Amino acid sequence: MEKRMSEQELIGSFEEALNYGHIFACYQPKINHSTGRMIGAEALMRWKHPVFGLQYPSDFIPVLEKNDLIYKADLYIFETVCKFQRKCLDSGIPIVPVSCNMSRFDIYHDDYVDNIEAIRAKYDVPVKFMHIEITESSAIGGMELVSDVLNRLHSYGYMVEMDDFGSGYSSLNVLKDLDVDVIKLDMRFLSGGIGGRGGAIINAMVQMAKWLDTPVIAEGVEKLDQADYMKSIGCSYVQGYLYSKPVTEDEFIEKLKTTDFEPVSPVIEMDNMDAGKFWDPDSMETLVFNNYVGGAAIFSFLDGKIEMLRVNDKYMKEIGMNMTEQEVLSCQPWDCMDEHNKQVYSDALSRAAETGEEITCETWRTICSKTCGEDKICIRSAIRMIGKAGEQYLFYVMVRNITNEKKNFETLYDSERRFRFASEHANVYAWEVDLSTKQMRPCFRCMRDLNVPPVVYDYPEPLIENGIFPPDYADMYRDWMKQLEQGVDHLEAIIPLTVGRVPFHVRYTTEFDENGKPLKAYGSATLVVDGEDKKE
Ligand code: C2E
Ligand code: CA
Ligand code: CA
Repeated sequence: MEKRMSEQELIGSFEEALNYGHIFACYQPKINHSTGRMIGAEALMRWKHPVFGLQYPSDFIPVLEKNDLIYKADLYIFETVCKFQRKCLDSGIPIVPVSCNMSRFDIYHDDYVDNIEAIRAKYDVPVKFMHIEITESSAIGGMELVSDVLNRLHSYGYMVEMDDFGSGYSSLNVLKDLDVDVIKLDMRFLSGGIGGRGGAIINAMVQMAKWLDTPVIAEGVEKLDQADYMKSIGCSYVQGYLYSKPVTEDEFIEKLKTTDFEPVSPVIEMDNMDAGKFWDPDSMETLVFNNYVGGAAIFSFLDGKIEMLRVNDKYMKEIGMNMTEQEVLSCQPWDCMDEHNKQVYSDALSRAAETGEEITCETWRTICSKTCGEDKICIRSAIRMIGKAGEQYLFYVMVRNITNEKKNFETLYDSERRFRFASEHANVYAWEVDLSTKQMRPCFRCMRDLNVPPVVYDYPEPLIENGIFPPDYADMYRDWMKQLEQGVDHLEAIIPLTVGRVPFHVRYTTEFDENGKPLKAYGSATLVVDGEDKKE
């Protein structure tokens, strides 16, 4: 018999479920779509009640979270996975890194990292086989907490994957500020499919991830065309029903035995190369240079001067703007850059020379060509030193013209920043209501403190239901919504909010279109502190 268990039933049988293994882990492989090999797996919690049957995470995880039981459950799954990995090591089953989910509520337990580390040590599983997925929404509780957990995980050597990237408002900020090792982009968050707007957004996100040299795993991939599309934009790692549903431990062992494994590789691969071979027209390097890499060039650097030595056809396409090869070769890249960009580029060169590693930078350049006139373009360069003689350095650079992506990014970033302004700086809760669709979008404070989801449908019903608006104010509040829809431009009152009935000064202002039709209502709530607010 399968029956959805009530909250009370779940809470009541939780301890028993842990003790008797009713809660356990399933495994879903992560695959490199280009090679068909497995790169790892994710552990997903399952609960099979002896009488009520299989319960779904979407039902029981929120209950565990709400009742502060998720922490224990997450540690339990982590331990289950450690035991599993130990079994693989001991019995010669091929082993792959497995990621465990960290609930955003685990962040508030400051012994999370030490606890999992103690468990891992107990089973003596090398840390490279245990990854942690943190969700983007953890950042709602404040960046400092997440960033602290991330640093501590890193200090023990854990790889950290950013889960559900693209689901929230703060994606771009989170990506910029958190140094995660892998980004998981959920295809299911896409509206409009890969053909339309969704494709453009995914593309922009994958590009951004590349700028940060962070590999991306696309999850929720159900169809071949989705996987192919991701591959075409340079993201071959996929997880989803296309390859496999989450499977039991035994089925997973079968998969481990029959599937090849490969590690996740860094974003840009370039082997060490020997400078001399580039001058040999018959060498493999020359062949590769001319045919198989993207835009690439070789230049020398001496006394602050760059001399372009060789460029390939694709380089010409990326920045050439119809110039002849001769024109490109004779041009000093410095001359196209302003002081700031010059500094960025020369810093990158110094670092490439010092470290011997590939260094990337982005610079805006003003290109002037006889045929196309003047234009500003943004170039991403991946620079590597390939030779040095005295004070003269030889560099290999791969370039990509990222002007369009850059512009997309700025637009996305701007609109997001505008949206978040209200909540971050003023001490208020703010939200907006689309009066035609009844969709409400809260500020991040509402999301953090009141647990409001990023989009509330059929507003205000869900918030009345969960008690943010007390029942005795529900009808008044519904009436407010009607008034706003009918074009009232301002409303305000002191309303007790949440089950705690904390008094807030709630205000609405309406935005109209050019015909006077009400479009959106902007709501705010300010705490009433000892009559202070009342004096207005
Ligand atoms: P998630 O971390 O984003 O996990 C991926 C979810 O997507 C899983 O759902 C997986 O079964 C599902 N999925 C994978 N591929 C596809 C696909 O191609 N199509 C569709 N429609 N779905 C796909 P699941 O197992 O039901 O878990 C749901 C959520 O519950 C997880 O989302 C995660 O947030 C949470 N969860 C699961 N296990 C744990 C756990 O051990 N600890 C914590 N804190 N949360 C967990
Ligand atoms: Ca996950
Ligand atoms: Ca996910």
